[in-house]
Amino acid sequence: MIPMLDLKKQMEGIRDEVLKEVADVMESGQYILGRKVSQFEQKTAEYIGVKHAIAVASGTDALHLSLKALGIGPGDEVITTPFTFFSTVEAIIYQNATPVFVDIEPDTFNIDPSRIEEKITPKTKAIIPVHLFGRPANMDRIMQIAGKFNLKVVEDCAQSFGATAGGRKTGSIGDAGCFSFYPSKNLGASGDGGLVCVNSDELATEIRLLRNHGSSGGYIHTTVGFNSRLDEIQAAILLVKLKRIDSYNEKRRQKAALYNKLLCGDGDSGLLCPGLGEDGSYTHVFHQYTIKHPRRDAVREKLRNEQVSSMIYYPVPMHLQPALKFMGHREGDFPAAEAASREAVSLPIYPELEDAVIERISSAIKSVLARV
Ligand SMILES: *Cc1c(COP(=O)(O)O)cnc(C)c1O
Repeated sequence: MIPMLDLKKQMEGIRDEVLKEVADVMESGQYILGRKVSQFEQKTAEYIGVKHAIAVASGTDALHLSLKALGIGPGDEVITTPFTFFSTVEAIIYQNATPVFVDIEPDTFNIDPSRIEEKITPKTKAIIPVHLFGRPANMDRIMQIAGKFNLKVVEDCAQSFGATAGGRKTGSIGDAGCFSFYPSKNLGASGDGGLVCVNSDELATEIRLLRNHGSSGGYIHTTVGFNSRLDEIQAAILLVKLKRIDSYNEKRRQKAALYNKLLCGDGDSGLLCPGLGEDGSYTHVFHQYTIKHPRRDAVREKLRNEQVSSMIYYPVPMHLQPALKFMGHREGDFPAAEAASREAVSLPIYPELEDAVIERISSAIKSVLARV
Protein backbone atom coordinates (compact mmCIF):
# COMPACT_ATOMS: atom_id res chain seq x y z
CA MET A 1 0.00 0.00 0.00
CA ILE A 2 1.34 3.46 -0.94
CA PRO A 3 1.00 5.51 2.27
CA MET A 4 -0.18 9.14 2.56
CA LEU A 5 3.10 9.97 4.24
CA ASP A 6 6.25 7.91 4.92
CA LEU A 7 8.03 9.14 8.02
CA LYS A 8 10.39 6.16 8.00
CA LYS A 9 11.74 7.36 4.64
CA GLN A 10 12.32 10.81 6.10
CA MET A 11 14.15 9.26 9.05
CA GLU A 12 16.47 7.38 6.66
CA GLY A 13 17.80 10.70 5.39
CA ILE A 14 18.54 12.15 8.85
CA ARG A 15 19.03 9.10 11.07
CA ASP A 16 22.60 9.69 12.31
CA GLU A 17 22.03 13.34 13.09
CA VAL A 18 18.71 12.76 14.86
CA LEU A 19 20.04 9.89 16.97
CA LYS A 20 23.10 11.91 17.97
CA GLU A 21 20.96 14.91 18.94
CA VAL A 22 18.61 12.74 20.98
CA ALA A 23 21.57 11.05 22.70
CA ASP A 24 23.08 14.47 23.49
CA VAL A 25 19.87 15.58 25.17
CA MET A 26 19.72 12.35 27.17
CA GLU A 27 23.31 12.84 28.35
CA SER A 28 22.71 16.51 29.18
CA GLY A 29 20.28 15.66 31.97
CA GLN A 30 18.17 18.69 30.99
CA TYR A 31 14.81 17.69 29.55
CA ILE A 32 12.41 20.63 29.91
CA LEU A 33 12.92 24.28 28.85
CA GLY A 34 16.65 23.97 28.30
CA ARG A 35 19.12 24.96 25.59
CA LYS A 36 17.51 23.08 22.71
CA VAL A 37 14.13 24.76 23.22
CA SER A 38 15.79 28.21 23.41
CA GLN A 39 17.77 27.49 20.28
CA PHE A 40 14.68 26.26 18.47
CA GLU A 41 12.75 29.38 19.48
CA GLN A 42 15.56 31.60 18.22
CA LYS A 43 15.87 29.80 14.89
CA THR A 44 12.14 29.66 14.22
CA ALA A 45 11.67 33.34 15.12
CA GLU A 46 14.39 34.15 12.60
CA TYR A 47 12.96 31.81 9.97
CA ILE A 48 9.36 33.01 10.29
CA GLY A 49 10.46 36.63 10.61
CA VAL A 50 9.06 37.59 14.01
CA LYS A 51 10.50 39.06 17.18
CA HIS A 52 9.44 36.18 19.44
CA ALA A 53 8.72 32.47 19.06
CA ILE A 54 7.44 30.56 22.08
CA ALA A 55 7.47 26.77 21.98
CA VAL A 56 4.46 25.04 23.52
CA ALA A 57 3.13 21.50 23.86
CA SER A 58 0.87 21.39 20.78
CA GLY A 59 -0.74 23.37 18.00
CA THR A 60 -3.99 23.34 19.91
CA ASP A 61 -2.26 24.93 22.90
CA ALA A 62 -0.60 27.48 20.61
CA LEU A 63 -4.07 28.60 19.49
CA HIS A 64 -5.58 28.45 22.98
CA LEU A 65 -2.78 30.35 24.72
CA SER A 66 -2.76 32.99 21.95
CA LEU A 67 -6.49 33.62 22.33
CA LYS A 68 -6.15 33.80 26.12
CA ALA A 69 -3.16 36.13 25.95
CA LEU A 70 -5.08 38.38 23.55
CA GLY A 71 -7.85 38.65 26.13
CA ILE A 72 -10.48 36.70 24.17
CA GLY A 73 -13.04 35.48 26.70
CA PRO A 74 -16.69 34.75 27.49
CA GLY A 75 -19.17 36.45 25.17
CA ASP A 76 -16.55 37.32 22.56
CA GLU A 77 -17.09 36.16 19.01
CA VAL A 78 -14.25 34.72 16.96
CA ILE A 79 -14.64 34.34 13.21
CA THR A 80 -13.17 31.26 11.58
CA THR A 81 -13.69 28.68 8.86
CA PRO A 82 -16.00 25.65 9.15
CA PHE A 83 -13.54 23.66 6.99
CA THR A 84 -10.61 22.94 9.29
CA PHE A 85 -9.34 20.50 11.89
CA PHE A 86 -11.52 20.53 15.02
CA SER A 87 -8.91 22.08 17.29
CA THR A 88 -9.23 25.52 15.66
CA VAL A 89 -12.73 25.59 17.12
CA GLU A 90 -11.83 23.88 20.39
CA ALA A 91 -9.37 26.66 21.20
CA ILE A 92 -12.16 29.25 20.90
CA ILE A 93 -14.49 27.19 23.07
CA TYR A 94 -11.81 26.64 25.75
CA GLN A 95 -11.98 30.42 26.27
CA ASN A 96 -15.79 30.30 26.48
CA ALA A 97 -15.88 32.47 23.40
CA THR A 98 -18.25 31.83 20.47
CA PRO A 99 -17.02 30.53 17.12
CA VAL A 100 -18.68 32.28 14.17
CA PHE A 101 -18.24 30.49 10.88
CA VAL A 102 -17.68 32.07 7.48
CA ASP A 103 -17.90 29.81 4.42
CA ILE A 104 -14.84 28.97 2.33
CA GLU A 105 -13.77 29.78 -1.22
CA PRO A 106 -14.63 26.66 -3.25
CA ASP A 107 -11.30 26.67 -5.09
CA THR A 108 -8.82 27.39 -2.25
CA PHE A 109 -10.66 25.69 0.65
CA ASN A 110 -9.77 28.76 2.74
CA ILE A 111 -12.06 31.28 4.48
CA ASP A 112 -13.76 33.60 1.97
CA PRO A 113 -12.78 37.16 2.90
CA SER A 114 -15.69 38.63 0.95
CA ARG A 115 -18.09 37.01 3.43
CA ILE A 116 -16.35 38.06 6.66
CA GLU A 117 -17.76 41.57 7.08
CA GLU A 118 -21.40 40.42 7.11
CA LYS A 119 -20.60 38.26 10.17
CA ILE A 120 -18.97 41.02 12.21
CA THR A 121 -20.95 42.24 15.24
CA PRO A 122 -20.04 44.48 18.19
CA LYS A 123 -18.98 41.26 19.98
CA THR A 124 -16.48 40.18 17.30
CA LYS A 125 -12.95 40.27 18.70
CA ALA A 126 -10.80 38.15 16.42
CA ILE A 127 -10.44 36.22 13.18
CA ILE A 128 -8.66 32.88 12.92
CA PRO A 129 -7.74 32.21 9.29
CA VAL A 130 -6.47 28.68 8.68
CA HIS A 131 -3.86 28.20 5.96
CA LEU A 132 -5.43 24.90 5.03
CA PHE A 133 -3.35 22.16 3.42
CA GLY A 134 -0.38 24.57 3.37
CA ARG A 135 -1.96 27.20 1.14
CA PRO A 136 -2.06 30.67 2.69
CA ALA A 137 -5.45 32.28 3.21
CA ASN A 138 -5.97 35.69 1.63
CA MET A 139 -4.10 37.62 4.33
CA ASP A 140 -4.13 40.95 2.47
CA ARG A 141 -7.90 41.09 2.61
CA ILE A 142 -8.14 39.60 6.09
CA MET A 143 -5.68 42.10 7.60
CA GLN A 144 -7.52 44.92 5.85
CA ILE A 145 -10.83 43.86 7.41
CA ALA A 146 -9.20 43.31 10.81
CA GLY A 147 -7.72 46.81 10.65
CA LYS A 148 -11.03 48.37 9.68
CA PHE A 149 -12.94 46.70 12.56
CA ASN A 150 -10.08 46.61 15.08
CA LEU A 151 -10.00 42.81 15.31
CA LYS A 152 -7.13 40.57 16.39
CA VAL A 153 -5.86 38.01 13.90
CA VAL A 154 -4.58 34.61 15.04
CA GLU A 155 -3.19 32.60 12.13
CA ASP A 156 -3.65 28.84 12.31
CA CYS A 157 -0.41 27.78 10.60
CA ALA A 158 -0.56 24.15 11.73
CA GLN A 159 -0.32 23.07 8.08
CA SER A 160 1.69 25.93 6.60
CA PHE A 161 5.21 26.03 8.04
CA GLY A 162 7.31 27.89 5.48
CA ALA A 163 4.45 29.11 3.27
CA THR A 164 4.39 32.78 2.30
CA ALA A 165 1.63 35.27 1.58
CA GLY A 166 2.55 38.58 -0.04
CA GLY A 167 6.22 37.81 0.48
CA ARG A 168 5.86 37.23 4.24
CA LYS A 169 5.89 33.89 6.04
CA THR A 170 2.56 32.73 7.39
CA GLY A 171 2.63 33.19 11.14
CA SER A 172 4.27 36.62 10.89
CA ILE A 173 1.33 38.55 9.49
CA GLY A 174 -1.38 38.49 12.18
CA ASP A 175 -1.09 39.23 15.90
CA ALA A 176 -0.08 35.63 16.57
CA GLY A 177 0.98 32.73 14.35
CA CYS A 178 0.27 29.24 15.68
CA PHE A 179 2.13 26.16 14.51
CA SER A 180 1.78 22.44 15.22
CA PHE A 181 4.59 19.90 15.10
CA TYR A 182 2.34 16.86 15.26
CA PRO A 183 4.40 14.15 13.50
CA SER A 184 2.45 14.23 10.23
CA LYS A 185 2.73 18.00 9.74
CA ASN A 186 5.15 19.25 7.11
CA LEU A 187 7.52 20.16 9.95
CA GLY A 188 6.84 17.33 12.39
CA ALA A 189 8.34 16.24 15.70
CA SER A 190 8.44 12.68 17.02
CA GLY A 191 5.60 13.46 19.37
CA ASP A 192 3.48 16.52 20.08
CA GLY A 193 4.68 20.10 19.85
CA GLY A 194 3.62 23.61 18.93
CA LEU A 195 4.82 27.18 18.57
CA VAL A 196 3.45 30.70 18.85
CA CYS A 197 5.05 33.51 16.84
CA VAL A 198 4.44 37.13 17.87
CA ASN A 199 6.02 40.53 17.46
CA SER A 200 4.58 42.08 20.63
CA ASP A 201 6.83 41.90 23.71
CA GLU A 202 3.82 41.91 26.05
CA LEU A 203 2.12 39.03 24.25
CA ALA A 204 5.34 37.03 24.25
CA THR A 205 5.79 37.53 27.99
CA GLU A 206 2.20 36.52 28.66
CA ILE A 207 2.40 33.37 26.52
CA ARG A 208 5.69 32.38 28.19
CA LEU A 209 3.94 32.69 31.55
CA LEU A 210 0.87 30.79 30.40
CA ARG A 211 2.83 27.82 29.06
CA ASN A 212 4.58 27.30 32.40
CA HIS A 213 1.92 27.52 35.15
CA GLY A 214 1.95 31.32 35.11
CA SER A 215 5.29 31.17 36.86
CA SER A 216 7.62 34.14 36.70
CA GLY A 217 10.22 31.99 38.46
CA GLY A 218 11.03 30.87 41.98
CA TYR A 219 7.56 29.40 42.57
CA ILE A 220 5.92 32.79 42.21
CA HIS A 221 2.81 32.51 40.03
CA THR A 222 1.57 35.78 38.58
CA THR A 223 -1.30 34.17 36.67
CA VAL A 224 -3.01 30.78 36.46
CA GLY A 225 -1.43 29.09 33.48
CA PHE A 226 -0.97 25.63 32.03
CA ASN A 227 1.59 22.88 31.68
CA SER A 228 2.29 23.40 28.00
CA ARG A 229 5.98 23.09 27.25
CA LEU A 230 7.86 21.63 24.32
CA ASP A 231 10.44 19.17 25.62
CA GLU A 232 14.16 19.19 24.81
CA ILE A 233 14.11 15.96 22.80
CA GLN A 234 11.40 17.25 20.48
CA ALA A 235 13.21 20.60 20.11
CA ALA A 236 16.44 18.79 19.22
CA ILE A 237 14.68 16.67 16.57
CA LEU A 238 12.85 19.71 15.18
CA LEU A 239 16.15 21.61 14.86
CA VAL A 240 17.48 18.86 12.60
CA LYS A 241 14.39 19.04 10.37
CA LEU A 242 14.18 22.86 10.42
CA LYS A 243 17.51 23.00 8.58
CA ARG A 244 15.91 21.01 5.77
CA ILE A 245 12.41 22.45 5.74
CA ASP A 246 12.91 24.59 2.62
CA SER A 247 14.12 21.58 0.69
CA TYR A 248 11.28 19.40 2.02
CA ASN A 249 8.72 22.04 1.04
CA GLU A 250 10.31 22.55 -2.38
CA LYS A 251 10.08 18.82 -3.05
CA ARG A 252 6.42 18.81 -2.01
CA ARG A 253 5.82 21.66 -4.47
CA GLN A 254 7.53 19.72 -7.26
CA LYS A 255 5.37 16.65 -6.54
CA ALA A 256 2.26 18.85 -6.57
CA ALA A 257 3.26 20.42 -9.88
CA LEU A 258 3.64 16.95 -11.39
CA TYR A 259 0.23 15.84 -10.07
CA ASN A 260 -1.30 19.05 -11.47
CA LYS A 261 0.26 18.51 -14.88
CA LEU A 262 -0.90 14.90 -15.07
CA LEU A 263 -4.37 15.41 -13.58
CA CYS A 264 -5.39 18.86 -14.80
CA GLY A 265 -2.94 19.53 -17.64
CA ASP A 266 -5.50 18.88 -20.38
CA GLY A 267 -8.05 21.08 -18.65
CA ASP A 268 -11.11 18.86 -19.17
CA SER A 269 -10.96 16.22 -16.47
CA GLY A 270 -13.54 18.06 -14.36
CA LEU A 271 -11.08 17.90 -11.51
CA LEU A 272 -10.17 20.88 -9.39
CA CYS A 273 -6.42 20.90 -8.84
CA PRO A 274 -4.77 23.20 -6.28
CA GLY A 275 -3.22 26.48 -7.42
CA LEU A 276 0.56 26.55 -7.31
CA GLY A 277 0.90 30.27 -6.60
CA GLU A 278 2.86 30.79 -9.79
CA ASP A 279 1.98 34.49 -9.88
CA GLY A 280 4.22 34.87 -6.82
CA SER A 281 1.44 36.13 -4.54
CA TYR A 282 1.77 33.12 -2.27
CA THR A 283 3.71 29.92 -1.90
CA HIS A 284 1.85 26.74 -1.08
CA VAL A 285 3.81 24.15 0.93
CA PHE A 286 1.48 21.23 0.19
CA HIS A 287 1.11 19.82 3.65
CA GLN A 288 -1.65 18.02 1.75
CA TYR A 289 -2.26 17.67 -1.98
CA THR A 290 -6.03 17.91 -2.25
CA ILE A 291 -8.21 17.73 -5.34
CA LYS A 292 -11.96 18.00 -5.75
CA HIS A 293 -14.40 16.12 -7.96
CA PRO A 294 -18.09 15.19 -7.60
CA ARG A 295 -17.12 11.52 -8.14
CA ARG A 296 -14.63 11.61 -5.30
CA ASP A 297 -15.83 8.34 -3.82
CA ALA A 298 -15.29 6.46 -7.10
CA VAL A 299 -11.78 7.90 -7.25
CA ARG A 300 -11.08 6.65 -3.73
CA GLU A 301 -12.40 3.19 -4.50
CA LYS A 302 -10.17 2.91 -7.56
CA LEU A 303 -7.14 4.04 -5.56
CA ARG A 304 -7.91 1.52 -2.85
CA ASN A 305 -7.99 -1.24 -5.49
CA GLU A 306 -4.64 0.01 -6.79
CA GLN A 307 -3.13 -0.19 -3.28
CA VAL A 308 -2.91 3.59 -2.96
CA SER A 309 -3.93 5.41 0.22
CA SER A 310 -6.09 8.51 0.11
CA MET A 311 -7.73 10.52 2.88
CA ILE A 312 -10.70 12.78 3.31
CA TYR A 313 -9.80 16.03 5.00
CA TYR A 314 -12.40 16.71 6.33
CA PRO A 315 -15.46 14.47 6.07
CA VAL A 316 -17.68 16.59 8.34
CA PRO A 317 -17.40 20.39 8.46
CA MET A 318 -17.25 22.01 11.89
CA HIS A 319 -20.82 23.36 11.89
CA LEU A 320 -22.18 19.79 11.50
CA GLN A 321 -19.95 18.17 14.15
CA PRO A 322 -21.91 16.36 16.87
CA ALA A 323 -19.96 18.18 19.60
CA LEU A 324 -21.07 21.55 18.21
CA LYS A 325 -24.76 20.70 17.91
CA PHE A 326 -25.47 23.31 20.58
CA MET A 327 -24.59 25.99 18.03
CA GLY A 328 -27.77 25.14 16.15
CA HIS A 329 -26.36 24.94 12.65
CA ARG A 330 -27.98 22.94 9.88
CA GLU A 331 -26.97 21.35 6.62
CA GLY A 332 -26.97 24.05 3.97
CA ASP A 333 -25.57 26.76 6.25
CA PHE A 334 -22.13 26.66 4.61
CA PRO A 335 -22.56 25.11 1.16
CA ALA A 336 -18.96 25.49 -0.04
CA ALA A 337 -17.58 23.78 3.08
CA GLU A 338 -20.19 21.03 2.75
CA ALA A 339 -19.32 20.50 -0.92
CA ALA A 340 -15.64 20.28 -0.01
CA SER A 341 -16.47 17.62 2.59
CA ARG A 342 -18.29 15.62 -0.07
CA GLU A 343 -15.90 16.15 -2.98
CA ALA A 344 -12.36 16.73 -1.73
CA VAL A 345 -9.78 13.96 -1.50
CA SER A 346 -6.14 14.19 -0.44
CA LEU A 347 -3.51 12.10 -2.22
CA PRO A 348 -0.13 10.83 -0.99
CA ILE A 349 2.47 13.60 -0.88
CA TYR A 350 5.83 13.74 0.87
CA PRO A 351 9.34 14.79 -0.16
CA GLU A 352 10.53 11.24 -0.81
CA LEU A 353 7.51 10.19 -2.91
CA GLU A 354 8.69 8.88 -6.27
CA ASP A 355 7.53 10.55 -9.47
CA ALA A 356 6.74 7.15 -10.99
CA VAL A 357 4.23 6.57 -8.19
CA ILE A 358 2.61 9.93 -8.87
CA GLU A 359 2.28 8.90 -12.51
CA ARG A 360 0.64 5.64 -11.48
CA ILE A 361 -1.78 7.37 -9.10
CA SER A 362 -2.67 10.01 -11.67
CA SER A 363 -3.40 7.57 -14.47
CA ALA A 364 -5.57 5.49 -12.13
CA ILE A 365 -7.61 8.61 -11.32
CA LYS A 366 -7.87 9.65 -14.96
CA SER A 367 -9.05 6.18 -15.92
CA VAL A 368 -11.94 6.34 -13.44
CA LEU A 369 -13.02 9.79 -14.52
CA ALA A 370 -12.87 8.88 -18.21
CA ARG A 371 -15.42 6.10 -17.62
CA VAL A 372 -18.65 8.00 -17.02
C1 LIG B 1 -2.97 19.73 13.40
C2 LIG B 1 -3.81 20.94 13.44
C3 LIG B 1 -4.06 21.65 14.63
C4 LIG B 1 -3.71 21.13 15.99
O1 LIG B 1 -2.41 20.80 16.22
P1 LIG B 1 -2.03 19.74 17.38
O2 LIG B 1 -0.55 19.93 17.47
O3 LIG B 1 -2.43 18.40 16.90
O4 LIG B 1 -2.71 20.16 18.61
C5 LIG B 1 -4.77 22.83 14.55
N1 LIG B 1 -5.25 23.30 13.38
C6 LIG B 1 -5.05 22.64 12.23
C7 LIG B 1 -5.59 23.23 10.96
C8 LIG B 1 -4.34 21.44 12.21
O5 LIG B 1 -4.16 20.79 11.06
